[in-house]
Amino acid sequence: MIYLKTEEQIELLREANLVVARTLGEVAKWVLPGVTTRKLDEVAEEYIRSQGCVPGFKGLYGYPATLCVSVNETVVHGFPGSYALREGDIVSVDCGAVTKSGYNGDSAYTFMVGEVSDDVKRLLRTTKESLYEGIKKAVPGNRIGDISNAVQEYCEKRGYGVVRELTGHGVGKKLHEDPEVPNYGRRGTGPLIKNGMCIAIEPMINMGSKNVVMDEGGWNVRTRDRKPAAHFEHSIAVHNGSADILSSFDYIQEVLGERFI
Ligand code: MG
Ligand code: MG
Repeated sequence: MIYLKTEEQIELLREANLVVARTLGEVAKWVLPGVTTRKLDEVAEEYIRSQGCVPGFKGLYGYPATLCVSVNETVVHGFPGSYALREGDIVSVDCGAVTKSGYNGDSAYTFMVGEVSDDVKRLLRTTKESLYEGIKKAVPGNRIGDISNAVQEYCEKRGYGVVRELTGHGVGKKLHEDPEVPNYGRRGTGPLIKNGMCIAIEPMINMGSKNVVMDEGGWNVRTRDRKPAAHFEHSIAVHNGSADILSSFDYIQEVLGERFI
């Protein structure tokens, strides 16, 4: 069941996503060699609660933390812990927050720790660009498969593996609503996109093959070939005939300056 949102509900979703955007900006300040992934989680939880919100992931399906912090070959759902970031790592940070009105924000960004190789930078850039390619297709009259196909084509043409096991999703009062928004698929297939549809688009793209394995009770998803993976996510609303990005990387950009990918 796809819940189309009113303009008022879209504004409430935007509010939640701006909390997430600012949280990712706070986290960006701490993405440095020697900082543990647990520290990033603490920074995020503290900020979210300071805004009168609650972490959106903590406790959901039994997830133990505020952030998913996924380093290098971990694609998504990495548990924050004692691992200290190292120069040359990449770290995907996925964040959710729920406002008092009960709406979920959801957005993710892959950070570089210090200097990373040009190959890895290209993976990050391509993954982020593919997100915007997908967003361009999120207009009334298109179908979800048009978004999926745009992401897939963009990444596969550049030689990357597109993860099949995990998808984007509708977002609203629940973090995960219908429809599923896969990062692969055929044009002209899937649910029709309508005004009021609110979805999270989130390419999960591997440097090598598309294959992944799941560790730690099915949570930790890593590439089978142990090559790095990237993850960028925006929550968007389709309204007034186009896609409106509700989340934002602007706060990250403010912190990273020229290091913003
Ligand atoms: Mg997310
Ligand atoms: Mg999501």
